[in-house]
Amino acid sequence: MCGAVTVTATPERPAVAACHCEMCQRWAAGPFLSFQAQPGYAALGPVRTYQSSSWAERAFCGECGSVLWYRMTAPGPHHGQTQISAGLFENAGDTTLSLEIYIDKKPEGYAFDSDCRKLTGADVIEMFAPSPEGDSQ
Ligand SMILES: [Zn+2]
Ligand SMILES: [Zn+2]
Repeated sequence: MCGAVTVTATPERPAVAACHCEMCQRWAAGPFLSFQAQPGYAALGPVRTYQSSSWAERAFCGECGSVLWYRMTAPGPHHGQTQISAGLFENAGDTTLSLEIYIDKKPEGYAFDSDCRKLTGADVIEMFAPSPEGDSQ
């Protein structure tokens, strides 16, 4: 919002995901809309991070507080996976919504007009839980 932080990133695929979890509602005033970034994205400026759970951190602009990204910090195959705020990109609104997660936490008062894939919180936890074999990439 203030321009102090510049983010350069390439989306993993041209698709926006929405997270309806309670933390994202607090953080983003509603669903958190994001792109998964390819590794090697870069940010210049006063980036601050907050460890919001034992497995992830959230980054924001140290000047104005704008939401920047959500990054997995737990070891395992998803370590470092980063969801960058769709709002940072000029043409994000042209991109199709491809996934909604924590759909069971979405408030009744609104919904996206989309028939995209939807996962509950339990589905997501199952997907991201470390495997019993201790898979580590
Ligand atoms: Zn969330
Ligand atoms: Zn800012």
